[in-house]
Amino acid sequence: MMGFIIMAMHKKNKKKKEKTPRQKLRIVLDNLWRDLIKEIYGFVSPGYYRCEKCGKIFRSGKGSGKGKGINSHHVVGKSNWNVRWDLRDGSPLCSGDHTLNKDSAHQDRSAFLKKIIEKRGQEWYDKLYKRAGREGGSKKWTLKQMERRKEQFKKILKKLQTKHLPITS
Ligand SMILES: [Zn+2]
Repeated sequence: MMGFIIMAMHKKNKKKKEKTPRQKLRIVLDNLWRDLIKEIYGFVSPGYYRCEKCGKIFRSGKGSGKGKGINSHHVVGKSNWNVRWDLRDGSPLCSGDHTLNKDSAHQDRSAFLKKIIEKRGQEWYDKLYKRAGREGGSKKWTLKQMERRKEQFKKILKKLQTKHLPITS
């Protein structure tokens, strides 16, 4: 009997640690956003992406080596919920330009902003910041909205990846 109770308690504790549907969706959305930013702004050939700052090409994913490769950077910041899953808010950067270098996006924000505004234009920046600034950037996502965004992202990614496949005929 005692053993059963302990087992039951274990089970309960384990269950407690499980992620909520919201947490799960958040991870899925973060990952989809990350993949989409690379495909949209950095695609060179399948698995290879260009850093939006230095212009060098890197291999993404497994085998690319630690500290190398391409990261998807949040221009406004991941903590802003208005634009966390907004495709305008992302930029594919090599790890040096993302976080490691002195003039990287995370270490010298204004240098990075200057460079990316030159590239994408003031209008892009103004629109992005207008959206990010609403209600202090604390948009409360409903599960339904998150699900909808997930489906949108999956659709766009599929479309892009199909378009980006090497032509075989
Ligand atoms: Zn770079």
